[in-house]
Amino acid sequence: EHILEVRDLYYTYSDGTQALKGLTLGIKQGKTTAVLGGNGAGKSTLFLSLNGIYKPTAGEVLFKGLPLDYSRRGLKDLRKSVGIVFQDPDSQLFSASVYQDISFGAVNLKLTKEEVRRRVNMAMEQTDITHLKDKPTHCLSFGQKKRVAIAGVLAMEPEVLVLDEPTAGLDPMGISEIMKLLRKLQAQLGLSVVIATHDIDIIPLYCDYTYVMDQGKIVLEGNPKEVFSQP
Ligand code: ADP
Ligand code: ADP
Repeated sequence: EHILEVRDLYYTYSDGTQALKGLTLGIKQGKTTAVLGGNGAGKSTLFLSLNGIYKPTAGEVLFKGLPLDYSRRGLKDLRKSVGIVFQDPDSQLFSASVYQDISFGAVNLKLTKEEVRRRVNMAMEQTDITHLKDKPTHCLSFGQKKRVAIAGVLAMEPEVLVLDEPTAGLDPMGISEIMKLLRKLQAQLGLSVVIATHDIDIIPLYCDYTYVMDQGKIVLEGNPKEVFSQP
């Protein structure tokens, strides 16, 4: 029932910074899991380890019970299954039209034109941005750009959607809209959703399970209500 598992993971950057120091967690299939932690806790490093962008210094990551395959081929397959939405949508968008931006990843999968079109149209519907189809992405609001970035990952038809700080930079209305959207996607598509956040308030409202991270380790975990009612 854990689609992703992280076992005793260590990650050390080339300058010697130990970002992950023996981290263990499980991401449950079809649920929304939050990883809460302050700046520098290691959330981004963990996320980049989940789809093989970072290869662990020690320990392992398993997808559907199998250790990640770090060969070119293995990584390509993995990136279709585990999609990452970065914190800053501009890092993921190329400022073409919304349609072109969303299709970028799917085009790289060497699908037929019709299949790409089907997936992009579906992803736009799922994220409620079909009306923005022909707009250049650089003229969209921050919240709309976030949706375009999410749609681009959905067009890859992933099984796990990993989002780094999806609510950062949004006003309260934008936060509730994006979290409700993720909840809807999780329910409708059976997606497993993982979010990193330092916003404690959204977790009991929108997440099924939470891990609390500090200095490269998990220091607390459980159902949000249990975790946040501890003295
Ligand atoms: P229910 O809502 O009926 O408890 P769940 O499938 O949500 O069923 O949870 C079953 C158990 O698994 C619960 O104890 C829950 O705390 C735990 N759990 C839920 N999500 C996760 C997760 N992402 N990682 C680890 N354990 C989880
Ligand atoms: P978070 O996402 O929780 O803010 P990060 O994973 O970004 O945490 O960072 C964890 C630790 O790794 C921090 O001490 C940070 O300064 C360090 N770090 C992050 N990226 C790099 C990098 N490219 N090179 C060296 N150290 C880094």
